[in-house]
Amino acid sequence: MNTPEKSFFAPARAWKYLSKKPVTVPMEDILITPREASDRYRGFHINDWGKCIGCGTCSKICPTDAITMVEIEELPDVEGSKPQKPSIDYGRCSFCGLCVDICTTGSLQMTKEYLHISKDPNTFFFIPTEEGIHGIKKPLGYVRDEDSDLLDLEREEMEIDPPEIRKTSFIEMVKGFSKEQAVREASRCVECNICEKTCPAHMNIADYIKDIYTDDLQTGLKDLYKTNPLPAVCGRMCTHKCETVCTIGHRGEPIAIRWLKRYIVDNIPQDKYPEILDQEVIKKANAKVAIVGAGPAGLSAAYFLSLMGFEITVYEEKNRPGGVLNYGGPSYRLPDSAFEQDVSYIKSLGVKIITNTKVGKDITLEELKAKNDVIFVSTGFNKGRKLPIEGSDHEKVFDSLTILEEMKNYVRGEGPKPYIPKSLVVIGGGNVAMDVARSMLRLQNLEYKKSEVHVLSLERSFDEMPADEDEIVEGKEEGVIFHPGWGPVKVIVENGELKGVLFRKCVEVFDKNGRFNPKYDENNTITINADMVVMTVGQAPDYSYLPEDIQKNTKIERGKIKTNEYGQVEGVPWLFAGGDIVHGPDIIHGVADGHKAAQGIDQYIMAKQLSK
Ligand SMILES: Cc1cc2nc3c(=O)[nH]c(=O)nc-3n(C[C@H](O)[C@H](O)[C@H](O)COP(=O)(O)OP(=O)(O)OC[C@H]3O[C@@H](n4cnc5c(N)ncnc54)[C@H](O)[C@@H]3O)c2cc1C
Ligand code: SF4
Ligand code: SF4
Ligand code: SF4
Repeated sequence: MNTPEKSFFAPARAWKYLSKKPVTVPMEDILITPREASDRYRGFHINDWGKCIGCGTCSKICPTDAITMVEIEELPDVEGSKPQKPSIDYGRCSFCGLCVDICTTGSLQMTKEYLHISKDPNTFFFIPTEEGIHGIKKPLGYVRDEDSDLLDLEREEMEIDPPEIRKTSFIEMVKGFSKEQAVREASRCVECNICEKTCPAHMNIADYIKDIYTDDLQTGLKDLYKTNPLPAVCGRMCTHKCETVCTIGHRGEPIAIRWLKRYIVDNIPQDKYPEILDQEVIKKANAKVAIVGAGPAGLSAAYFLSLMGFEITVYEEKNRPGGVLNYGGPSYRLPDSAFEQDVSYIKSLGVKIITNTKVGKDITLEELKAKNDVIFVSTGFNKGRKLPIEGSDHEKVFDSLTILEEMKNYVRGEGPKPYIPKSLVVIGGGNVAMDVARSMLRLQNLEYKKSEVHVLSLERSFDEMPADEDEIVEGKEEGVIFHPGWGPVKVIVENGELKGVLFRKCVEVFDKNGRFNPKYDENNTITINADMVVMTVGQAPDYSYLPEDIQKNTKIERGKIKTNEYGQVEGVPWLFAGGDIVHGPDIIHGVADGHKAAQGIDQYIMAKQLSK
């Protein structure tokens, strides 16, 4: 092919441009008057540290690995957040905006600013704050589209019996997740571990949720048992404080961590536990430990100590292990099968549980000490209390635990029918009040085909009441009549017959310093007619089994025994304590105490062996 030859003078033609105005803009000019970017421009990042919880989800999604989470020493290490913030490497960032789209709190955004000129490469590695890279935080550029979300913010709905069925039934009302529901719920978790610090037992929540997602329930069961030997009970009754800090809860509904735990144990047959868990017992020393009280704390200590190879005997006053929930917790919330499932695995490890044996009556603590190296006491707050008001000594005025136990024994077919009132007044606004009210309402409906249960609390609104919101909502649906903001004056008794309770209006529950110090309007009163009253005003411990010298030398403040962080009782090195008598107020704190005490007891026994 012939190509035309270029003229010899062709290069010289370029000289003509010397006199023309350049079309490119000098850098200095751009810096002085940068052109404003379009509305959805993906410029530099800004991050509101007041909102950012350091969950690291932005870092996980970044397709170019441009985000590194950086620990910030000055940040407090508190529940619900991690002391770290995202840093962006602008050498890698492709400005895709995915981190902004997924940010769990909405703290991460982008401005319209797009210029950063520097010879220092370190300045391209930047930890965004609210100030932005050059202190220019407005105008905002790319922000998350409110119509679509990379996070799944809605919780899987749990099947629960409708109120018309519930109000005449003691059968467990929450049905549990199906496999499809559990996997969908698990898929919402961003595996940030934020919840684990808040769980008193520090369960490895993100791990077992992932096990559900990958349908590996056997590993899930192993993950549960690393820190909690009562998963069937906790999967139903745990106070689930972890869910209050769940990262997804910042913009949507928190992950149903408690129900997911239950899903694992509901779907593995009990007789497969020993084979699946296949736990190794490491016998470090020949030592015996006696445990007083087979509640969550005692059972948890027994489990962890038995894995250490110690010989464990648990002494329990009642006819079955489980603690106060086993004789007080209503079966529509906690079926017997849940405790049986958890306890039978603990027993399979060689733990001996002796029921119907009250320490201090059937056997003394000194006798136990003579037979054992260490004693762990976890006897709970198991004495009901009544208010010392006029008429409270009437035989139809009950404390919460007495009536709950009577009702439970009857429902189990193990006790006589309790007195079923036509109208019941429950005094108190906590979860125990709800258990009493909702249990008696069921018995009334079964007996009389109608119910009348009044719950009166000092707290003046449902928000102030200590009971869980679910309990209040479900109680209302079943027919419980709530009267917030009333304090009892006296129980009205006429000719020996209980007639009702006189209440006065409560105008303030706590004083300015946050102390419980109720104030009343004496001129504003009501009378609620009733033929039974239950006072749910807290429980008390019973330390009569502790020998006098120990009672004298042990520090007990507001009913709680003082121990070191491993549950070792101050001044009595062979005595450990845990659960409600040390911390409380729930099952999972008892489980955590049992675990800690097992570690302390192990250290104590090993130190003694070494000193021999
Ligand atoms: C009605 C009710 C409902 C509750 N609901 C919930 C809930 O939904 N979720 C939650 O997390 N928590 C709940 N709690 C609180 C929870 O039950 C307790 O925090 C937890 O059981 C404490 O465990 P523990 O092992 O310390 O003691 P406990 O469970 O009280 O167990 C102590 C055990 O020691 C035994 N014992 C006592 N003295 C002796 C003795 N001298 N000799 C031998 N045995 C003895 C008792 O019989 C008992 O079995 C509820 C409590 C009540 C009362
Ligand atoms: S996703 Fe949002 S809240 Fe979580 S670390 Fe990143 S910026 Fe912070
Ligand atoms: S904009 Fe995209 S590439 Fe840049 S840091 Fe965010 S996720 Fe990573
Ligand atoms: S349950 Fe919530 S807080 Fe816990 S790991 Fe999952 S997303 Fe994070």
